[in-house]
Amino acid sequence: VQHCAPHQIPELSDLSRYSGLEPLKITPDTGFLMIGERTNVTGSPKFKKLVLADDFDAALAVARQQVENGANLIDINFDEALLDGEASMTHFLNLIAAEPDIARVPIMIDSSKWSVIEAGLKCIQGKGVVNSISLKEGEDAFLRQARKIRKYGAAAVVMAFDEQGQATKLDHKVAVCERAYRLLTEEVGFPPHDLIFDPNILTVATGMEEHNAYAVNFIEATREIKRCCPGAKVSGGVSNISFSFRGNNPVREAMHSAFLYHAIQSGLDMAIVNAGMLDVYKEIPPDLLEHVEDVLLNRSPEATERMITFAEGYKSEDTKEDKKTDEWREGTVEERLSHALVKGITEFIVADTEEARQQYGIPLRVIEGPLMDGMGIVGDLFGSGKMFLPQVVKSARVMKQAVTHLTPFMEEEQRRNAIANARPKIVTATVKGDVHDIGKNIVGVVMACNNYEVIDLGVMVPCEKILETARQEGVVAVGLSGLITPSLDEMVHVAKEMTRQGFDLPLLIGGATTSPAHTAVRIAPAYNQPVVHVPDASRVVGVVSKLLNPATREEYAEEITARHEERRQAYFSKSKSRKLLSLNEARANATSINWENTEIAVPEFLGVRVYGIESRAWPAPTAGEGITVSVETLIPYIDWTPFFYAWELKGKFPKILDDPRLGAEARKLYEDAQQMLKRFVAEARVQPRGVCGFFPANSDGDDIRVFTNESRLQLQATFHSLRQQNPKTDGKPNQALSDFVAPVSSGRADYLGGFAVTAGPEIEEIARKYEQQHDDYHAILVKALGDRLAEAYAEHLHLQMRVAWSYGRDEQLSHEDLIRERYRGIRPAPGYPAQPDHTEKRTLFELLEVEANTGIKLTETCAMWPASSISGLYFSYPESRYFAVGKLAKDQVEDYAQRKGVSIKEVERWLAPSLAYEQTPEASVVAALPSAA
Ligand code: SAH
Repeated sequence: VQHCAPHQIPELSDLSRYSGLEPLKITPDTGFLMIGERTNVTGSPKFKKLVLADDFDAALAVARQQVENGANLIDINFDEALLDGEASMTHFLNLIAAEPDIARVPIMIDSSKWSVIEAGLKCIQGKGVVNSISLKEGEDAFLRQARKIRKYGAAAVVMAFDEQGQATKLDHKVAVCERAYRLLTEEVGFPPHDLIFDPNILTVATGMEEHNAYAVNFIEATREIKRCCPGAKVSGGVSNISFSFRGNNPVREAMHSAFLYHAIQSGLDMAIVNAGMLDVYKEIPPDLLEHVEDVLLNRSPEATERMITFAEGYKSEDTKEDKKTDEWREGTVEERLSHALVKGITEFIVADTEEARQQYGIPLRVIEGPLMDGMGIVGDLFGSGKMFLPQVVKSARVMKQAVTHLTPFMEEEQRRNAIANARPKIVTATVKGDVHDIGKNIVGVVMACNNYEVIDLGVMVPCEKILETARQEGVVAVGLSGLITPSLDEMVHVAKEMTRQGFDLPLLIGGATTSPAHTAVRIAPAYNQPVVHVPDASRVVGVVSKLLNPATREEYAEEITARHEERRQAYFSKSKSRKLLSLNEARANATSINWENTEIAVPEFLGVRVYGIESRAWPAPTAGEGITVSVETLIPYIDWTPFFYAWELKGKFPKILDDPRLGAEARKLYEDAQQMLKRFVAEARVQPRGVCGFFPANSDGDDIRVFTNESRLQLQATFHSLRQQNPKTDGKPNQALSDFVAPVSSGRADYLGGFAVTAGPEIEEIARKYEQQHDDYHAILVKALGDRLAEAYAEHLHLQMRVAWSYGRDEQLSHEDLIRERYRGIRPAPGYPAQPDHTEKRTLFELLEVEANTGIKLTETCAMWPASSISGLYFSYPESRYFAVGKLAKDQVEDYAQRKGVSIKEVERWLAPSLAYEQTPEASVVAALPSAA
């Protein structure tokens, strides 16, 4: 049959080119291309199960396996009722983007929903293929979609469908494709080489006579389409052909191979196949081949019957799918364990560990041998900057699973042989009063990766417990962590106790407020053994091994001592040369504000409002913003840059995602974070809570008086502020927060706001669950996201409060503007540089009844529990800015103590890091020690 004359196209030299990270050029010599089909929920029950279970790691493994088995492209499909197709497509494609060994091949975005296809087009890199569009819904929709695809620069599969439905007959198939070709090339300007026709591979041997010609029709149609649509390619989904024989893989594989053999001869360019499951045509047993070809080529009316009978005999043979696994699976057990550790693959770890256990006989040897060797490689790669923290944490997860598998065997073994566990132990703890532990968790993971056993005592750990554990467990070092300034003092206390109790272990210091200077000046003098400040997890292994190795220990200890001495000298000479203003001088140079002419914003309500608890909430300040705050509401307010910092991926978001060095890891981490947030939302697992309020207030000197009501007759609370005492130049003021509120003497009615928010205690519970499953990666991820949500909540609530305070109503700020805090007013947090005194939180908590309203508690050192919590004051004064109070002279400390009604000693204890002078003897731990400088 001659269906049409070939179309004339101007340029045929332009061959089909697709690409993933690598180009895929199709020349006449390219030969047949395989499109991996296993990443398709409609075709692969296994893939579907993984995706529904949210196990995207394993789903990625499926994609990788397809590529490793030779797929030239991979077809990805999430058309499943229970899935959010767009979200799944986006998520999976983003994951793939971070896996160069998968992303090197072009992606075929497969969906019957246009929105899913478009979602996919937005993510893929290189030049992919849309699968598919058709004339099913008429020319308009068809052309519109084709134009969109052109805009995205992708190629397209066109299915042989039209308004009449699916083309099953030869003539119909060819006619539909020819029509589509004409429309696309002439009306859309679609390059023919970017077109791939799929003339429908339909199931044969169904028992229905009219189906017997389906294979032949396809083969013939392919030849004809290739002839009359020059440049266009032909493809098809092969598995369909053998659907009648599902459950019988040997027969199906033979059918696929034979079908492809004939279809390729008539011009088939590519097909969606299970890469790795294709037999070689020539190797199909002759008797099977004959039956198969009888069916495919429709050589006899009895072919189906005979095939069914014959197929019975082939059933028992098992499938090849599992046999042809990834190449690395073929290595020795040591190589496999090492590969799994370095790549963070948990899929086979238990089986491989078990194999090694049987081979080595003694489980401990597996740990000390191949597992530690693998972790050694991880440690080296991390140390040399070739691996990043999230990867290391994932490697640690693999290690933990292997060790967990070995542990029961090991205990038995140890009982019998009394083999001592040789791993050196380290005890770590967040000190008393402090609740934050992300950094410490990370250090723990990195240490565990380097063959240390880490005994993590958790948060708010009293000194006695740390030291008792150190003694009982025979540890080789003690690690202390803390976030808030009072923790510094607690660390000094621990150091002092270690001296008193005669410890000779090195002491490691880490956490946000710790510093090399504080360690040198305050902690090291309190303990006569090495005290090392470890600023981040990447340093800890180097430090500890130098401290423990007899060959380096002494020299390193001397080096540390010398460095501390240098720091102390610098510190003391600086403090000697430091000249501070007297408190009176500083006050004389307070921020000068003409309150008479200053516009003061009036809030729309006064008193406490509970935010996030519907029954007690105030009416929505802006249309569309609900009162109960959900994780979903907060997500757009997240500032992501600090999230990457927490993982030691230091760079600005979103640029970091494209960073040549960090980008791939940052993207994976970001994706995992998105996934976790989605779960928080979907499972309603996290309920952020908050409270806020506005109060009539006026300043009175350096204090801020809060009144019970607008009559301003009765005092409800007093916030105390501290004033900068360092000499200023250029007419800059010596600021205190109280400057930003109109003084009582001005006669103006001013206001102060306050807030406390938490991501919720659920964060801690979820993290704990992951920890119990030895999944530190997700535990740390959950905590880091909890912190992000709390910050996002503070941002979101501040926005609502600016609206309620009237001046925020016309605000039009972008996400970036919010992160840069480009709005009127500030929300300083007690304990931060503008007010370093954490105890001011007690006043705030009482005023807002924070604990009753939100469940946030203050520890004895004024840390907030749950850890993912934030509190602060709101100032509306337009020129209010964050500043640092800096060093305080004794006159201010005395004045402040008197105003607060507490002892000088008490103030010195809380403000120790801010003091410009040596503390009074009773308050000072340093002075009590003989070795103090
Ligand atoms: N977008 C950041 C915001 C947190 S840091 C994040 O998501 O992590 C900025 C906040 O820290 C401010 O809103 C304020 O509450 C507090 N802050 C910053 N500088 C301060 C200062 N000098 N004194 C008091 N609080 C300060």
